[in-house]
Amino acid sequence: MAIEKIIIVGGGTAGWMTAAALSRLRAGRPVDITLIESEEIGTVGVGEATIPPFLDFNRLLEVDEREMLSAVQGSFKLGIQFVNWGKLGDSYIHPFGAYGYQVEGISFHHVWHKYHQAGDKRPIQVFNIETMAAHFGRFARTEDYQREDLPPVNYAYHLDAGRYARYLRAYAEKRGVVRREGKVADVALNGENGFVSSVTMDNGDVIEGDLFVDCSGFRGLLIEQALKTGYEDWTNFLPCNRAVALPCVREDGSGPLPYTRATAHTAGWQWQVPLQHRNGNGHVYCSEFMSDDEALSILLGNIAGKPGADPNYLRFTTGRRKKFWNKNVVALGLSAGFMEPLESTSIHLINTGINKLIALLSLDGITQAQEDAFNRLTGKEYARIRDFLILHYNTTTRDDSPFWDYCRNMAVPETLTEKTDLFRLNGQIFREDDELFTETSWAAVMMGQGIMMGGHNPMADAVREPATAKEMDAMEQSIRFVVQHMPSHGDYLQKYCPAP
Ligand code: FAD
Repeated sequence: MAIEKIIIVGGGTAGWMTAAALSRLRAGRPVDITLIESEEIGTVGVGEATIPPFLDFNRLLEVDEREMLSAVQGSFKLGIQFVNWGKLGDSYIHPFGAYGYQVEGISFHHVWHKYHQAGDKRPIQVFNIETMAAHFGRFARTEDYQREDLPPVNYAYHLDAGRYARYLRAYAEKRGVVRREGKVADVALNGENGFVSSVTMDNGDVIEGDLFVDCSGFRGLLIEQALKTGYEDWTNFLPCNRAVALPCVREDGSGPLPYTRATAHTAGWQWQVPLQHRNGNGHVYCSEFMSDDEALSILLGNIAGKPGADPNYLRFTTGRRKKFWNKNVVALGLSAGFMEPLESTSIHLINTGINKLIALLSLDGITQAQEDAFNRLTGKEYARIRDFLILHYNTTTRDDSPFWDYCRNMAVPETLTEKTDLFRLNGQIFREDDELFTETSWAAVMMGQGIMMGGHNPMADAVREPATAKEMDAMEQSIRFVVQHMPSHGDYLQKYCPAP
């Protein structure tokens, strides 16, 4: 059955990202794309921090970075600062770029460890440009300083989710996507093969389709309510199941920070996402250990400014759909699963889901092989991200609340135990299944949480001397010099992409 009509149900970040990306197909072969959304139901209204691969999505759309950031009042993000995670009073940055550079094929943290053991007390962070720039609240793009002796600055964006959806809507509609306003009241299945054949709107209109993309959010209107796909619950690993979000206007005149902040509290953690015009804030918590009122009160006591809206309470169950692609329905966004926002991975998973869908799509029809490949690849992605998220909770030494006692003592997947064991042994980190997080990501969080390398790759002892020591000194100095000459993040935004 040829695919002539694609129906996207939902117009949040997932729906409009999908619509914008698929609208580009229309330039090749005629295919009708309809997006259905309901203003009355609305969107989840959060999800404003991204990670570097998101830049590729915008490149795919060929959108101009300055224009887009200006339209969404966005800012730059160099990484995430974790406060009070390993223990109370701790703080570390998970940066987007690498620590140092490869020395004779060996990852830098091994070589750093060798010198560290020999008495060089410089922290590994001084060899990372993103951490240093974040520390001083500065920002510049690689193109701005033109230094060949330094790696590029890796960054992502903070963006206003509502404005970004509107921006993508304009993009998609311009390229022929048709938007239908209203609620889907019913879903019809084909009696022979169980495929979704049409959806019925609450005004009685029937919208038929060949391929359906479920972007209906947590409710999973097609993938779950219609197809009963099932959900794999990961609450035992990632116990937070509530959030309260509350944007605020910065009142102290400070500019936006060039990083997301994640501050651990007694039964969860708080995010701060700095945009040009406001901070996004929220408290993610576990209802078994904290009430909604307490969560809000902690949030109100820890935001840098005046609340700019009413609190938005959200409920979720961490985990994933048993299948992401089922028959002729592909779930993207919250309808596919949710692992909580600690490392800003949800929009990323929408992005990689779209990439896989486009790569596997054939407008000549749907086959089992497509479904299987999509599900296998996405399942691996979810599992690797899940392990990385659990790492932050399980490796705490905090014992100041029953929540942290649970996290410290919970059973974790063997894949994660192996990772931390190997790092403790000799700093080895193996990336598997083309996983998202880099060696630096794993090293930054493990060291930040207080896991120390017991040794290093023996080849680090064999690197050229004194050339390596000199190169390391030169790198640190170059980073410090460049960062000193970067403008403040606020000044950079004012010049590069001011709000319209
Ligand atoms: P939604 O925004 O819920 O959109 C669902 C759409 O479906 C809406 O348009 C709705 O109207 C429509 N709909 C539903 N039912 C019907 C119906 N019957 N008829 C018609 N239309 C219907 N991600 C990140 O990458 N970074 C973050 O920092 C981040 N922070 C988060 C914090 C929290 C607390 C939560 C819960 C999520 C966060 N996320 C984050 C995830 C991110 O918000 C989502 O991945 C993203 O917003 C996509 O949501 P969505 O489009 O799938 O769902």
